[in-house]
Amino acid sequence: MRVAIAGAGVSGSYLASCLAEKGIAVDLYDLPHQNTCSISPCAWMATREIVPLVRSAGLDPARYILNRFSSAIFQGREFGVDLMTIDKPALIRDLRGDLPVRCGPFNPGDYDRVIDATGTARTYLPPIADDRLVPCIQYRGTTEDLRALPEVRCVYGGYAWSFPLGDDRYHIGCLSHMADPSPLLRDSGLLDGMKTKCGCRSYLRVTSPSGALPFVSGNIWGIGEATGCVYPLLGDGIVPALRSVGLILASWDDPEAYRRAVLSTFSRMKAEYDVLNALNTGERVGLIDILSTNFMRLGVRVNPGKAREAYTDAVSVWSCCPGK
Ligand SMILES: Cc1cc2nc3c(=O)[nH]c(=O)nc-3n(C[C@H](O)[C@H](O)[C@H](O)COP(=O)(O)OP(=O)(O)OC[C@H]3O[C@@H](n4cnc5c(N)ncnc54)[C@H](O)[C@@H]3O)c2cc1C
Repeated sequence: MRVAIAGAGVSGSYLASCLAEKGIAVDLYDLPHQNTCSISPCAWMATREIVPLVRSAGLDPARYILNRFSSAIFQGREFGVDLMTIDKPALIRDLRGDLPVRCGPFNPGDYDRVIDATGTARTYLPPIADDRLVPCIQYRGTTEDLRALPEVRCVYGGYAWSFPLGDDRYHIGCLSHMADPSPLLRDSGLLDGMKTKCGCRSYLRVTSPSGALPFVSGNIWGIGEATGCVYPLLGDGIVPALRSVGLILASWDDPEAYRRAVLSTFSRMKAEYDVLNALNTGERVGLIDILSTNFMRLGVRVNPGKAREAYTDAVSVWSCCPGK
């Protein structure tokens, strides 16, 4: 069997090395990256589930953890969490090991199977009817005004973040469902005092897998963000991308079993998508609705009073258009 994998991001690189290990002939393709970090999108925060996943890929998680956090600041209030920033470029490099990455287009007909691991591009699977891609802006920078904890501040229709990457380095960004994230990030204050080294714009797919069918079309099978495997509220897709590799390998010859496995493994993403839609249409969303999604993956330890206060504050900022 000859397999082509389009996309040498997290999911494509990991699947390529798993297949190569099984003795399957695999060609891994990507596009030339223009940015300095040589990956797109650049993303750094991970939940604790990444530790066993990286270990089961035969790698040592400690090599990739830049910082581990037991607290984070949300809307100016400190919460207990279990999160970590990781060196995603190094992880992707090591996941694919010695496998070469080919550049340029290829003919899907030359392969028995083509894996669409192209993330938001979803280049090979059929387009999604009601796809939801949210614009993001992100920078890496340094500052002398050290911030030890990750911080998230809500903005109109989204949020801005600042994640410590070790030493004086930070990943700062913003996404918004309602407006250009660039001025919202500037107004959030998180860029203040930051010397930016590089920046780029990109998109995040918040459609969730249930809205991103089909996962298989002819000899094309999708994995990772191409199939909507991203938590829509917070936008974390690294762990789901890694998990989707295990799912496709377990259902390699059974498209229907693969469809069921993705939908059931990530069923909470649909719940988050519904909460997100309600937030964006101004419907009343209670704290309990948020907590009933898979929020506990963040390892949040909540003082109910403080959580309610931060949440009320967050919703009012999320729904308030600046200047109106
Ligand atoms: C601004 C931003 C910040 C984020 N922050 C986080 C975070 O902190 N934590 C987290 O868990 N998730 C985060 N995410 C989401 C996370 O980065 C993705 O969900 C995850 O990387 C998806 O992995 P993937 O392998 O499916 O696709 P990707 O990692 O997106 O890889 C897709 C690859 O396909 C390549 N490609 C595209 N088109 C083609 C083509 N035609 N042919 C060949 N190759 C192609 C791309 O160049 C890329 O290398 C963030 C996303 C964004 C946009």
